[in-house]
Amino acid sequence: MISDSIHQAMTGLIRRQYDRARQDLSARLQALSDPEGDLVSVIEGLVAHQVHAGIVQDDLHALERFQITAPRDPARVFFVDYNPARARRHHGAGRAEAPPGWDRVNAGCYLCPENILWQQRFCQFPAPVPLPSGSYHAWANPFPLGHFHVTIAADAHVPQAWMGQDRAQSLDSLARRIVDLVHLAQQLPRYLVFENGTGAGATLPQHHHFQALKKWPGLTRYPIEAAARVQEERDGTGKAGQPF
Ligand SMILES: [Zn+2]
Repeated sequence: MISDSIHQAMTGLIRRQYDRARQDLSARLQALSDPEGDLVSVIEGLVAHQVHAGIVQDDLHALERFQITAPRDPARVFFVDYNPARARRHHGAGRAEAPPGWDRVNAGCYLCPENILWQQRFCQFPAPVPLPSGSYHAWANPFPLGHFHVTIAADAHVPQAWMGQDRAQSLDSLARRIVDLVHLAQQLPRYLVFENGTGAGATLPQHHHFQALKKWPGLTRYPIEAAARVQEERDGTGKAGQPF
């Protein structure tokens, strides 16, 4: 048996080592970031670090992409990504039970930093992502959908649902989500950013999060971007020549 005092000493040591490594990585990632606020280097630096640390467990070798084009209008295209390795995410990538001296908060929520510490064996680190509505952190996805796939989670344990007590509260919450998403999209050019709402695919509805991943190389635009560009041209607000 390991005595309580030894457990306590080791818990304190690991906490200090983790905090120091987290601060060191944050400073390095900050140094990589674009002075005008572009987050691409931060996200790509974080994922590179987490590939080395063994947190990202899928190298995407089995990922396939299918393009489905409307026969009468080739401009209308759907893309389907198929990655059989994603099924492994349901088995989890980390520990289910907290070791002695560590708290399992909010029923072991996978997006609470206090749980991620011990769940991922003190090897998973985040990158700070300040958003208009508050403080968020990006975490590399262990079983990514595509390249540089990160989950951008609120620091606070707040639900994914934006529906509030009444209409005014719901609209206010929805507006803040949209402002955050637009801000993220501006900071991550050539990335897809999105939120899976409750009832629309969110697998962790108890903790608010966005997702971001790099677009497939060569992919010019998603249908929603093409529609936005048409609207911009109609309104005369477009930025011709600007990459998506
Ligand atoms: Zn949480």
